[in-house]
Amino acid sequence: MRRIERLPLPSGVRFALGRRQVRANRQRREPGFNATRDWKNARDSAPVRAAEATLTRMAGLTERCMYCEDSHGTDIEHFWPKTPFSECLFIWPNMLLCCAECGRLKGQLVPADASGAPLLIDPTAEDPWAHLDFDPDTGNVVARFLREENGYSPKGEKTVEVLHLDRREALARVYRRSFLRIAKIVAVAVDDPQPDSQALLEQLRECDDSGLLSWCLRADGQHLEPFCRLRTDHPEVWRHCCECLS
Ligand SMILES: [Zn+2]
Repeated sequence: MRRIERLPLPSGVRFALGRRQVRANRQRREPGFNATRDWKNARDSAPVRAAEATLTRMAGLTERCMYCEDSHGTDIEHFWPKTPFSECLFIWPNMLLCCAECGRLKGQLVPADASGAPLLIDPTAEDPWAHLDFDPDTGNVVARFLREENGYSPKGEKTVEVLHLDRREALARVYRRSFLRIAKIVAVAVDDPQPDSQALLEQLRECDDSGLLSWCLRADGQHLEPFCRLRTDHPEVWRHCCECLS
Protein backbone atom coordinates (compact mmCIF):
# COMPACT_ATOMS: atom_id res chain seq x y z
CA MET A 1 0.00 0.00 0.00
CA ARG A 2 1.14 3.54 -0.55
CA ARG A 3 -0.03 7.03 0.32
CA ILE A 4 -1.90 8.39 -2.70
CA GLU A 5 -2.49 12.05 -3.34
CA ARG A 6 -6.14 12.74 -4.19
CA LEU A 7 -6.32 14.99 -7.25
CA PRO A 8 -9.10 17.55 -7.58
CA LEU A 9 -11.88 16.91 -10.08
CA PRO A 10 -12.61 19.49 -12.80
CA SER A 11 -15.29 21.82 -11.41
CA GLY A 12 -17.89 20.76 -14.01
CA VAL A 13 -17.48 17.11 -13.04
CA ARG A 14 -17.68 17.95 -9.34
CA PHE A 15 -20.85 19.92 -9.96
CA ALA A 16 -22.46 17.12 -12.03
CA LEU A 17 -21.66 14.50 -9.39
CA GLY A 18 -23.04 16.81 -6.71
CA ARG A 19 -26.31 17.09 -8.61
CA ARG A 20 -26.55 13.30 -8.88
CA GLN A 21 -25.95 13.01 -5.15
CA VAL A 22 -28.69 15.54 -4.38
CA ARG A 23 -31.06 13.49 -6.53
CA ALA A 24 -30.00 10.24 -4.84
CA ASN A 25 -30.48 11.83 -1.41
CA ARG A 26 -34.03 12.72 -2.38
CA GLN A 27 -34.80 9.27 -3.80
CA ARG A 28 -33.18 7.26 -1.02
CA ARG A 29 -36.02 8.15 1.31
CA GLU A 30 -38.53 6.65 -1.11
CA PRO A 31 -39.49 2.95 -1.07
CA GLY A 32 -37.91 0.90 -3.83
CA PHE A 33 -34.70 2.97 -4.01
CA ASN A 34 -31.76 0.79 -4.92
CA ALA A 35 -28.31 2.38 -4.61
CA THR A 36 -26.57 -0.33 -6.64
CA ARG A 37 -29.02 0.17 -9.51
CA ASP A 38 -28.67 3.95 -9.27
CA TRP A 39 -24.90 3.64 -9.49
CA LYS A 40 -25.13 1.15 -12.37
CA ASN A 41 -27.31 3.58 -14.31
CA ALA A 42 -24.79 6.36 -13.74
CA ARG A 43 -21.67 4.24 -14.30
CA ASP A 44 -21.24 5.13 -17.96
CA SER A 45 -22.18 8.78 -17.62
CA ALA A 46 -19.60 11.44 -18.49
CA PRO A 47 -19.01 12.68 -14.90
CA VAL A 48 -18.47 9.16 -13.50
CA ARG A 49 -16.14 8.34 -16.40
CA ALA A 50 -14.22 11.55 -15.69
CA ALA A 51 -13.94 10.60 -12.01
CA GLU A 52 -12.64 7.17 -13.05
CA ALA A 53 -10.05 8.78 -15.35
CA THR A 54 -8.84 10.94 -12.45
CA LEU A 55 -8.60 7.89 -10.17
CA THR A 56 -6.57 6.13 -12.84
CA ARG A 57 -4.18 9.11 -12.98
CA MET A 58 -3.89 9.04 -9.20
CA ALA A 59 -3.00 5.34 -9.32
CA GLY A 60 0.11 6.07 -11.40
CA LEU A 61 1.47 4.74 -14.67
CA THR A 62 0.73 1.11 -13.89
CA GLU A 63 -2.84 1.87 -12.67
CA ARG A 64 -2.58 -0.42 -9.66
CA CYS A 65 -5.24 -1.22 -7.12
CA MET A 66 -5.06 1.37 -4.32
CA TYR A 67 -5.48 -1.29 -1.61
CA CYS A 68 -3.00 -3.99 -2.62
CA GLU A 69 -0.77 -2.14 -5.14
CA ASP A 70 -0.43 -5.43 -6.98
CA SER A 71 -3.23 -6.18 -9.43
CA HIS A 72 -4.60 -3.78 -11.99
CA GLY A 73 -7.20 -1.37 -10.64
CA THR A 74 -10.28 -2.28 -12.60
CA ASP A 75 -13.22 -0.55 -10.99
CA ILE A 76 -14.35 2.37 -8.87
CA GLU A 77 -14.54 1.30 -5.25
CA HIS A 78 -16.75 3.04 -2.72
CA PHE A 79 -14.82 3.28 0.56
CA TRP A 80 -18.17 3.60 2.36
CA PRO A 81 -20.18 0.98 0.41
CA LYS A 82 -23.08 2.00 -1.84
CA THR A 83 -25.40 0.16 0.54
CA PRO A 84 -26.09 1.26 3.20
CA PHE A 85 -24.11 4.50 2.65
CA SER A 86 -25.98 5.82 -0.39
CA GLU A 87 -25.41 9.36 0.92
CA CYS A 88 -21.79 8.86 -0.28
CA LEU A 89 -22.65 7.35 -3.68
CA PHE A 90 -21.33 10.23 -5.83
CA ILE A 91 -19.03 11.85 -3.28
CA TRP A 92 -15.53 12.18 -4.75
CA PRO A 93 -13.48 11.50 -1.57
CA ASN A 94 -15.44 8.23 -1.21
CA MET A 95 -14.13 6.88 -4.53
CA LEU A 96 -11.01 4.74 -4.90
CA LEU A 97 -9.71 2.44 -7.62
CA CYS A 98 -9.37 -1.23 -6.74
CA CYS A 99 -8.83 -4.69 -8.21
CA ALA A 100 -11.45 -7.43 -8.43
CA GLU A 101 -9.89 -9.41 -5.56
CA CYS A 102 -9.75 -6.51 -3.08
CA GLY A 103 -13.25 -5.45 -4.14
CA ARG A 104 -14.53 -8.97 -3.49
CA LEU A 105 -12.81 -9.26 -0.11
CA LYS A 106 -13.95 -5.87 1.11
CA GLY A 107 -17.49 -6.12 -0.23
CA GLN A 108 -19.85 -4.25 2.07
CA LEU A 109 -17.38 -4.30 4.95
CA VAL A 110 -16.18 -1.17 6.67
CA PRO A 111 -15.30 -1.99 10.24
CA ALA A 112 -15.70 1.01 12.51
CA ASP A 113 -14.82 1.87 16.10
CA ALA A 114 -17.30 2.87 18.80
CA SER A 115 -17.40 6.46 17.52
CA GLY A 116 -18.17 5.31 13.97
CA ALA A 117 -14.69 6.14 12.61
CA PRO A 118 -13.56 3.61 9.99
CA LEU A 119 -11.10 0.92 10.99
CA LEU A 120 -9.97 0.55 7.41
CA ILE A 121 -7.12 2.45 5.79
CA ASP A 122 -8.03 4.94 3.09
CA PRO A 123 -4.71 5.39 1.25
CA THR A 124 -5.87 8.71 -0.19
CA ALA A 125 -6.49 10.13 3.27
CA GLU A 126 -3.58 8.85 5.37
CA ASP A 127 -0.19 7.17 5.30
CA PRO A 128 -0.91 3.41 5.36
CA TRP A 129 2.45 2.72 7.03
CA ALA A 130 1.29 4.56 10.14
CA HIS A 131 -0.92 1.49 10.68
CA LEU A 132 0.85 -1.25 8.76
CA ASP A 133 4.17 -3.03 8.98
CA PHE A 134 5.99 -5.25 6.53
CA ASP A 135 7.65 -8.59 7.21
CA PRO A 136 10.69 -8.85 4.88
CA ASP A 137 11.06 -12.58 5.59
CA THR A 138 7.59 -13.60 4.42
CA GLY A 139 6.58 -10.60 2.28
CA ASN A 140 3.38 -10.27 4.30
CA VAL A 141 1.84 -6.96 5.28
CA VAL A 142 0.82 -6.99 8.94
CA ALA A 143 -0.56 -4.59 11.55
CA ARG A 144 1.94 -2.15 13.03
CA PHE A 145 2.86 -2.37 16.69
CA LEU A 146 2.37 1.07 18.26
CA ARG A 147 4.91 1.37 21.10
CA GLU A 148 3.19 4.38 22.62
CA GLU A 149 -0.05 2.41 22.93
CA ASN A 150 1.61 -0.92 23.68
CA GLY A 151 -0.57 -2.67 21.15
CA TYR A 152 -1.17 -3.21 17.46
CA SER A 153 -2.89 -0.53 15.42
CA PRO A 154 -6.61 -1.47 15.40
CA LYS A 155 -6.96 0.10 11.96
CA GLY A 156 -3.97 -1.88 10.72
CA GLU A 157 -5.33 -5.11 12.19
CA LYS A 158 -8.74 -4.68 10.59
CA THR A 159 -7.30 -3.66 7.21
CA VAL A 160 -5.07 -6.74 7.15
CA GLU A 161 -7.99 -8.93 8.20
CA VAL A 162 -10.47 -7.55 5.64
CA LEU A 163 -8.06 -7.52 2.69
CA HIS A 164 -6.19 -10.73 3.72
CA LEU A 165 -2.89 -8.85 3.45
CA ASP A 166 -1.07 -11.46 5.52
CA ARG A 167 -2.30 -14.49 3.58
CA ARG A 168 -2.16 -13.73 -0.12
CA GLU A 169 0.80 -15.73 -1.36
CA ALA A 170 1.11 -14.07 -4.76
CA LEU A 171 0.93 -10.65 -3.15
CA ALA A 172 3.61 -11.57 -0.59
CA ARG A 173 5.92 -12.75 -3.38
CA VAL A 174 5.55 -9.43 -5.24
CA TYR A 175 6.12 -7.38 -2.07
CA ARG A 176 9.18 -9.41 -1.14
CA ARG A 177 10.67 -9.08 -4.61
CA SER A 178 10.07 -5.36 -4.52
CA PHE A 179 11.69 -5.13 -1.06
CA LEU A 180 14.78 -7.04 -2.21
CA ARG A 181 15.19 -4.75 -5.23
CA ILE A 182 14.96 -1.64 -3.02
CA ALA A 183 17.39 -3.11 -0.47
CA LYS A 184 19.89 -3.98 -3.20
CA ILE A 185 19.88 -0.47 -4.64
CA VAL A 186 20.30 1.09 -1.18
CA ALA A 187 23.12 -1.36 -0.32
CA VAL A 188 25.04 -0.23 -3.41
CA ALA A 189 24.46 3.45 -2.53
CA VAL A 190 25.63 2.91 1.05
CA ASP A 191 28.98 1.55 -0.19
CA ASP A 192 29.44 4.53 -2.50
CA PRO A 193 31.55 7.21 -0.75
CA GLN A 194 29.45 9.96 -2.36
CA PRO A 195 26.07 8.69 -3.51
CA ASP A 196 24.02 10.98 -5.74
CA SER A 197 20.81 11.47 -3.75
CA GLN A 198 18.64 12.47 -6.70
CA ALA A 199 19.81 9.59 -8.89
CA LEU A 200 19.27 7.19 -5.99
CA LEU A 201 15.75 8.49 -5.40
CA GLU A 202 14.83 8.11 -9.06
CA GLN A 203 16.18 4.57 -9.12
CA LEU A 204 14.25 3.67 -5.98
CA ARG A 205 11.01 5.19 -7.21
CA GLU A 206 11.28 3.26 -10.44
CA CYS A 207 11.36 -0.10 -8.68
CA ASP A 208 8.88 0.74 -5.91
CA ASP A 209 6.03 -1.34 -7.34
CA SER A 210 4.35 -2.01 -3.99
CA GLY A 211 4.68 1.31 -2.17
CA LEU A 212 7.31 -0.14 0.18
CA LEU A 213 9.85 2.65 -0.21
CA SER A 214 8.11 4.75 2.40
CA TRP A 215 8.20 1.81 4.84
CA CYS A 216 11.91 1.18 4.12
CA LEU A 217 13.06 4.76 4.63
CA ARG A 218 10.60 6.37 7.00
CA ALA A 219 8.70 3.66 8.87
CA ASP A 220 10.06 0.61 10.68
CA GLY A 221 12.28 -0.43 7.76
CA GLN A 222 14.68 2.40 8.57
CA HIS A 223 15.99 0.37 11.53
CA LEU A 224 17.03 -2.54 9.30
CA GLU A 225 20.06 -3.04 7.10
CA PRO A 226 20.90 -1.48 4.68
CA PHE A 227 18.46 1.38 5.39
CA CYS A 228 19.82 2.16 8.87
CA ARG A 229 23.30 2.42 7.35
CA LEU A 230 22.06 4.90 4.78
CA ARG A 231 20.67 6.94 7.66
CA THR A 232 23.88 6.87 9.71
CA ASP A 233 26.54 6.94 6.96
CA HIS A 234 24.78 9.29 4.51
CA PRO A 235 22.26 11.29 6.56
CA GLU A 236 21.92 14.02 3.91
CA VAL A 237 21.06 11.49 1.21
CA TRP A 238 18.60 9.71 3.51
CA ARG A 239 16.95 13.03 4.47
CA HIS A 240 16.66 14.09 0.83
CA CYS A 241 14.97 10.80 -0.10
CA CYS A 242 12.59 10.99 2.87
CA GLU A 243 11.61 14.59 2.21
CA CYS A 244 10.92 13.91 -1.45
CA LEU A 245 8.65 11.00 -0.51
CA SER A 246 6.31 13.21 1.50
ZN1 LIG B 1 -6.20 -5.05 -4.87
